[in-house]
Amino acid sequence: MTGRMKPGEGPVQITEEQLQARIQELGAQIRRDYEGKEPHLICVLNGAFMFHADLVRAVDMPLSVDFLQTSSYGDAKQSSGEVRLVKDLNFPLSGRHVLLVEDIVDTGITMHYLLQYLGGRGPASLKVAALLSKPSRRRIEVPVDYLGFTIPDAFVYGYGLDRSQFDRNLPFITSQN
Ligand code: 5GP
Repeated sequence: MTGRMKPGEGPVQITEEQLQARIQELGAQIRRDYEGKEPHLICVLNGAFMFHADLVRAVDMPLSVDFLQTSSYGDAKQSSGEVRLVKDLNFPLSGRHVLLVEDIVDTGITMHYLLQYLGGRGPASLKVAALLSKPSRRRIEVPVDYLGFTIPDAFVYGYGLDRSQFDRNLPFITSQN
C-alpha cells in the first residue's frame, strides 16, 4: 500500500516512525520480488543517502550497492531542467538486477535521464524506488516501482533532503519553515 499525505492542507509532515514503517514494508516487498536474485541498489547522491542506507538494511537478502551523483538544485528550489552526472558508478551493470534508489521524483527529469543512462549499460532489469513523489509537478512520466509516499506540491526537507544544504540530518520529513 502506498502512503498518502493529505493534499494541499497544512505542512507536509512524515514522522520518523512513519518513514521507518514504510521502509520496512518496501524492504519486504523488494525481497519477495527479487527472490533468487542479487539486486544491485544504486543510491542517487546526495538526497537519497539516508533512504538508501535504511532501505538496504530492510532488504534481508544478498545484495550489492553503488553510488552516483547528479547535479542538484544547489541552493535554489527550482530545477534548471538540465541534468548532469557529477559522480559516475564504480561497478558495471551488465547482467545486474538494478534498483535505482532516489529521494524524490518531482518533474521526473532527473529520473528520466538516469533511466536512459543506466538502461544503456546493459542491466538484466532496471527498476526504481523513490521515497517521495509529487505527481502534480510531473513534466515527464517515469515509472516508480516502489514508492514511499505521495506528497502535494511543497518544498520538503529532512531525512537526507536538504534545505540550502542543511537539515539533511533531520530524522523526519517536513515542509515547515
Ligand atoms: P526532478 O528532476 O524530478 O524535478 O527533481 C529531482 C531532484 O530534485 C530530487 O532528487 C531532489 O534532489 C530535488 N528536489 C525536488 N523536489 C524537492 C524538494 O521538495 N525538496 C528538496 N530538498 N529537493 C527536491
